[in-house]
Amino acid sequence: MTIFSRIVAGEIPSYKCAENEHFYAFLDINPLAKGHTLVIPKREVDYIFDLTDQELADMQVFAKHVAIAIKKVLPCIKVGQAVLGLEVPHAHIHLVPMQSEGDLNFANPKKQFTPEEMQQTADAIRAAYDSAL
Ligand code: AMP
Repeated sequence: MTIFSRIVAGEIPSYKCAENEHFYAFLDINPLAKGHTLVIPKREVDYIFDLTDQELADMQVFAKHVAIAIKKVLPCIKVGQAVLGLEVPHAHIHLVPMQSEGDLNFANPKKQFTPEEMQQTADAIRAAYDSAL
């Protein structure tokens, strides 16, 4: 079981931003920016391009609605999207609120926020996501 499957199962805590039957979104614990969110399929698949065509399409649409919620609550020009997957073997899309191109550079030092700030950010994204359903 991957660490992300354990998050979905509730065995490991996460700052939940959105959820539906097949996908889950939560804050990255080492964020590039406030509101940096990970979108994952509940089905455990390592490489994103091993998802079925339908799963990948559905995951992208879910990520779109999470990105819309992020942009509503965090000051940013756009929400950028990236797929790396070199660290955790469970497919995920990174959604990062950007003020400039450099904000999506994964070599940047990671930002630190208090647990209260992380909770407030996740709660705001989740409220925006839920209100648009
Ligand atoms: P990568 O697999 O290279 O796309 O990176 C995995 C990402 O998952 C990194 O940005 C980590 O900070 C993030 N990450 C790892 N464990 C957790 C966790 N328990 N909760 C939230 N984010 C995590």
